[in-house]
Amino acid sequence: MSKEIGSTQHVEVLKHTNTKPYTLGGYVLKCITYILLAFAFTQAYSSEMNPDVPVSAKNTLQRALSLFNNNQYEKSNELANQALLLAQGNNNLKTKAQTHVLLAELASKEKNISKGIEHYRQAAQTYAIMQSDIDQIRYLNEYVILLLKNKNDELADSAVNDLIGSIDKKKSDFFNGMVLSMKAQVYFAQKHFKEAEEEYKKALSVLTAPDEMTQKKRGAVFRKIAEIHKRLKNREETAFFYKEALAIFTSLNDIKNMARTLKTLAEAERYLGNYEKALDYSRRSLDIHQRTGDKEGQAKALMGAGIIYRHIERYENSLKSIHQAYLVYTDIDDEIGIAKTSNEMGLLYSKLKEFNQARSFFQHTIDLQESQIEPKTLATAFREMAVIDLNSLQYESAKIMAMKAHDIYKKENELEKGSLTARVLANAYRGLGDNENAVLYYKESLALAGQIGSKIYQMKAQIPLASMLRHTDVDEAMRLLEKALQISIEIGHTYHQLDAYTQLRETEKWRGNFEASLAYAEKEIYLTQAIQEENEKNQLILERAKLYSHKKEVELETLKHKVQLDQVALEQQAFETAMAEQARKISELNLTKNKYASVALASLLAICLIAALYIYRRFIDSNKRNKELDYLAARDSLTNCYNRRILFDFMTRYFADPERTKEYCIILADIDHFKSINDNYGHSKGDSVLCAAANVLQKNVRENDIVARFGGEEFCIILPNTSIEQAVEIAESLRHNIEHHSFEQISLTCSFGISSAQFNTETPKELIDQADKALFKSKSNGRNLVTLWEPKLNDSDKP
Ligand code: GH3
Ligand code: MG
Ligand code: MG
Repeated sequence: MSKEIGSTQHVEVLKHTNTKPYTLGGYVLKCITYILLAFAFTQAYSSEMNPDVPVSAKNTLQRALSLFNNNQYEKSNELANQALLLAQGNNNLKTKAQTHVLLAELASKEKNISKGIEHYRQAAQTYAIMQSDIDQIRYLNEYVILLLKNKNDELADSAVNDLIGSIDKKKSDFFNGMVLSMKAQVYFAQKHFKEAEEEYKKALSVLTAPDEMTQKKRGAVFRKIAEIHKRLKNREETAFFYKEALAIFTSLNDIKNMARTLKTLAEAERYLGNYEKALDYSRRSLDIHQRTGDKEGQAKALMGAGIIYRHIERYENSLKSIHQAYLVYTDIDDEIGIAKTSNEMGLLYSKLKEFNQARSFFQHTIDLQESQIEPKTLATAFREMAVIDLNSLQYESAKIMAMKAHDIYKKENELEKGSLTARVLANAYRGLGDNENAVLYYKESLALAGQIGSKIYQMKAQIPLASMLRHTDVDEAMRLLEKALQISIEIGHTYHQLDAYTQLRETEKWRGNFEASLAYAEKEIYLTQAIQEENEKNQLILERAKLYSHKKEVELETLKHKVQLDQVALEQQAFETAMAEQARKISELNLTKNKYASVALASLLAICLIAALYIYRRFIDSNKRNKELDYLAARDSLTNCYNRRILFDFMTRYFADPERTKEYCIILADIDHFKSINDNYGHSKGDSVLCAAANVLQKNVRENDIVARFGGEEFCIILPNTSIEQAVEIAESLRHNIEHHSFEQISLTCSFGISSAQFNTETPKELIDQADKALFKSKSNGRNLVTLWEPKLNDSDKP
């Protein structure tokens, strides 16, 4: 249990106790948890101190690993050493092996090669005891790589030979393939390239399983073979094997190795003069590095592209790429990279014959701290400075610079470059008139080229050496020149072939063989023509490559433009979508608005309608009520006949009419002996009889006739447009109907008095008075009678 787990529990406990009330049970639980926690802490702590605890070494290692991952190497180292002690004490093999691996990686961070070697050896040995073959061989491989890096070839060789001795059927193909490739690696380091290639090919014949681990190794082996051919300057083969490696890494989708291989393949194609392919591979490599954010890879790819551009004389592009590489290297603070870009800039300016600029860049590299840059990079700067000095006839400076480069190459066992600087040195001495030293260094250059089997460098040394020896050792000079000629023809190096012819012509002339000299002169002429043609052809290749790169750039620009256009189109589309969306929203809002408006309108209408209805109903109601009121106001409540007020209104209206020419009569009716009905049957019975009598009157008049209760048991009937005769007739019919109507077995009669406007009445009152007088006459005459007013009735008094 670790402290981390313990502290998490602690937090949990706190949470727990915070939320729970302080009960006895809770208290006991809390105590137990604290005891457990204390135990956990003690365990975690004591496990570091006490080697007897098996789990502690593992945890210490884990902590060391996490510190390593957080770049805390010093602390990680401390803990890793503790872990190692613990694991050793406990004989925990797995942890021991893993700790050795971590310590080896830490050694790499410290740039302590011998420490790394020791830990990889121990790791491999421990895995061997554990019979973990794959791990054993993996770390043995690391061990051998480091031994070779430390120039401890012999130890590496013997380690590998021990393994080869132990190769048997029991080991896996992967294991055996690794051993073979390690052997090849030793050969490679010893520059025994042929043997190295043979071993690598043997490894390939074993590494055939389709699993990822095997295939990855297979790809790495192909790349190694390609590197061998690169060293041997077998350009075709180099490209071929890099392509094989690339195919494997592509099938594995191993992006990192793909990018690396593409970069080296680009270089190989550049050497082959296939600049178009070189540019393509270079771009693909750069693409991947940019995509994966691998800055170092990006810088390397940019450098590669810069070099290709320099070769096809697209100096501006070259400058741009190298400058970009410089920026990336600066960004990641890679001094080695910065120095390389500086050198490349120098080379570029040398090519442009801007020697001062070139010098300043090489000087920049030289000025960097020796510990910060690779010796080879420094040597390049010295070497190129020497070449510039040589070209500008500054032999003394050239000599110094070339010597510095040469010393580095000798120390680094860089034979090929050593051959080159020896030649540069010789040229400088020759320029200084120091023929003795010149010959010495040409010879050294030739010897070094011979050691590595570089025919070009041999030839390049042979020709100037021969020209120097011509006067002292003509035979040796001839021998050298013939060899150089042979090589130049063999490798198709026409310039050097021409050089060889020139020197041969001169030497034969010196020997007095004028015919032979003439023959060489003729050959020179033919070759010059051929070179001219070849130059034209090369120029054509170069121009084609330039054109291609231009075309690619245009394509790229077009693509970029297209991308931009697409972007614009996309933005336009997005804009349109946004607009459409907005329009949709607006219409939606409008709709909603309309909907709301409709709703509002509908509501309003409804309200209006309701209001109107209400008002209408109120109106109707009030009308009804008014009518009712009017009705009630106009009617007599008991008999439902018009009342006395309405009676006078009607009559007043008639008399108010100026054109009242029409006939107009009234009848006054009074129930006979009504008092006795009340007396005999009660007042209530009297009411109902009164009502029934009124009903008979109302039913037996015409539509436009008006029956009004004049008072008590007295009624007045207005008869508009009625002649006196008609009035008498109506009254008689009413008298008859009353007389013959059965009022619930009660007999009833009524007396009537008639008056007419015809009798020159001017007011309603006059008319009623006349009718009343007539009625009085009917009463007086015995009742149940109808009497029409006549002027003489005015004279008789009412009772
Ligand atoms: P006549 O007209 O034939 O001379 O005799 P009469 O008994 O009808 O005479 P009078 O006019 O003196 O009396 C009318 C009576 O009618 C008096 C009153 O009690 C009765 N009367 C008047 N109005 C009402 C009424 O609304 N209801 C009832 N039950 N009786 C009424
Ligand atoms: Mg009366
Ligand atoms: Mg009466």
